[in-house]
Amino acid sequence: MAPTTGPGRIQLAGRTVQLAWLREHSTQTAPLFARARAEVGHAWCLCRRPGLRLVIRCTRAGRYHVAGWPGEGEQHDPQCPFRKLAPGHSGRDHYSTQAIREADDGVYIRLATPLAIPLTHPDTRDAASEDTRDETSSRRSVGLLGLLHWLWEQAQLNVSHPQAGPLTWRKCHARLRQQLREATINGRAMDEALYVVPPFTPAAADANAAALDAFRARLGRHGMTERRALILGQIKEVAPTPYGVAYRLAHQRTPLYARAALHARATRSYRHAFGKTAAEHGATQIALFVVERSPKGHLIAVDLAAMLTTGTYIPADSSYEVVMADALTACRRAFIKPLRYDTADAVLPDFVLTDVAPAAYVEVYGIHGRESYDRRKAEKREFYQRQRGQLIEWDVTQPLPLLARSGQRGPGPSA
Ligand SMILES: [Zn+2]
Repeated sequence: MAPTTGPGRIQLAGRTVQLAWLREHSTQTAPLFARARAEVGHAWCLCRRPGLRLVIRCTRAGRYHVAGWPGEGEQHDPQCPFRKLAPGHSGRDHYSTQAIREADDGVYIRLATPLAIPLTHPDTRDAASEDTRDETSSRRSVGLLGLLHWLWEQAQLNVSHPQAGPLTWRKCHARLRQQLREATINGRAMDEALYVVPPFTPAAADANAAALDAFRARLGRHGMTERRALILGQIKEVAPTPYGVAYRLAHQRTPLYARAALHARATRSYRHAFGKTAAEHGATQIALFVVERSPKGHLIAVDLAAMLTTGTYIPADSSYEVVMADALTACRRAFIKPLRYDTADAVLPDFVLTDVAPAAYVEVYGIHGRESYDRRKAEKREFYQRQRGQLIEWDVTQPLPLLARSGQRGPGPSA
């Protein structure tokens, strides 16, 4: 018998179902969703007893889905797909509803980078690219790194739980695609405007190639606009070309080309993602590209944001954080990596441990003797005093601190 409570189980109009099953059968379950919405007004998440409310949404295409109830994310079980960090633990808090709007029919995102360039006014392009760097407007629109972090957080790819097993690109792809189906970006359906590189298998090669061709066909000139779109994938190699670089992505043969100046700026802006030490720790680089189609049909990256992750796709702000995330996983700890989105100076914990109550925090101190860094460290300590959670600190010049829960065995040689 399947348990009647536990993560991933939902009650809809009196019927208990698995969330995964609901997502796979969204068409045939539409009447059940409609009844729950009319008769109860919401669904129940059964990860806790009593259950927690879930919002029922219906896209304009008539596709139903459930979402976490605003402000209740922290109450869900650490393993529950609706678990969220408390307010103040995510860069998501810094956006206005103009940038990210959650409505009954899905989430609407306003990306700072234009995805359609009018061809009538040649000046528009420059004005638009300057706009993305404007600090004040960034809160009313989402930058590329903000969008990448939003997707990762929505898909819960910043959550690690010992019972869930390690994340693979196949799992990342499936969860990201689920989020894309429920969102709109700059007025376009997000699953049409953003292509997540699908996992490669010899059997899927032809279907993947056809999907990329269909995506490429949507780019370029349509009437009086030049259409751009987004590609999300894992950078495998950056190879020099006569004009700049070619980004070779994992699971995809077709490279993305970029000018040398863009790559130079990207390595400065995302220095940890492009840093050499990360690769030594088995880290990966995830990137979100804005692409155009060249006259010859090549995919040209015109902008990008990059993010460092562990080998199992948990984001990390430095190679030391990669080491910490892997050590927490080895100690079978449940944790969440808070994401800063476009707000570089947000004071956020490096990691939040969710298998203890209240949640505990992990801080990684990597740099010494910089005034701004010491001030930040003091700010962070103040933050933890307010949160009243346990704080585990690691000064990277010292060995790793004890990370196992009290009474829990460490990652012995047999683990
Ligand atoms: Zn739940």
